[in-house]
Amino acid sequence: MPSIQISSKELLSWRRSLLLKGGRAVDLDWLLDLGAGLSWSALQMLYIDESKSIDLDMSLDELTSLWEKHRMEHIPLQYLLRRCPWRDFELEVGPGVLIPRQESELLIDLAISKCEQKQNGVWADLGTGSGAIAVGLSRSFLHWEGHAVDCCNEALSIARRNLDKLSFTSNYQLHLGSWWEPLTPWWGKLNLVLANPPYIPISDIDNLSPEVRNNEPHLALCGGSDGLSSCRKIISGSLKALAPKGWLIIEHHYDQSDLVLKMMEQVGLSDLSVEKDLQGIKRFALARNNLEKIC
Ligand code: GLN
Repeated sequence: MPSIQISSKELLSWRRSLLLKGGRAVDLDWLLDLGAGLSWSALQMLYIDESKSIDLDMSLDELTSLWEKHRMEHIPLQYLLRRCPWRDFELEVGPGVLIPRQESELLIDLAISKCEQKQNGVWADLGTGSGAIAVGLSRSFLHWEGHAVDCCNEALSIARRNLDKLSFTSNYQLHLGSWWEPLTPWWGKLNLVLANPPYIPISDIDNLSPEVRNNEPHLALCGGSDGLSSCRKIISGSLKALAPKGWLIIEHHYDQSDLVLKMMEQVGLSDLSVEKDLQGIKRFALARNNLEKIC
């Protein structure tokens, strides 16, 4: 990466002039960190010593043009840089996939809390998108076999590149198709299945911020009229696909907890529980298949 040397004074006055035109400082500082390699703590040091010179991985002109695109056209910075930090790694992202959210990071911790004792098993990530969850699982369940499913070819290409680059093992496969369908050979053998399906009701899509509404794939956001159409498909197919004692962990919208648990109960899943996200919102539903296999 080319290194560009400029003075602290020049950088700080550039930053001030950009922010005077609008936009959030936290976003500009994120761009400086991810795009130009200037960490937030290094930025604070510049205020103490303005005479210092610093190395940036990107020129101020390039940074300005990315920032203006973000500010004027409401394009998420993650898409402009094609990168998104998530848990302890950095994913490639692009307009064909949802930008992985911070709250979804907890899905991996929940999976670990339920399955860490199990040395071997089979996990699946339904609706993998960028592959964030699949990468997280593959790095946490080293001796397991993994499956990432998505109905969109573009998403699968991005997920494959992320898995190939970031996974600690090569014991995973990617499948094109809808939810459980491409996994029929593994039905009854899946010990851990995670999903962050599209869950926003169609009537709420217009109220999303322009960054989300105009850029992120509606296929990954919109869960039909009540937001639960994908959730319903996942839960209704779960009992035949999960191994005995296998776990299903689903992320859902802020107000769907009761409905999702009810659906889980109705299909015969057991050990139901709810987990909150970092804002205290009931965001995750967990359940498992306690039925013994009838041969
Ligand atoms: N959490 C995302 C949002 O609020 C939606 C993700 C999803 O539908 N799975 O924008």
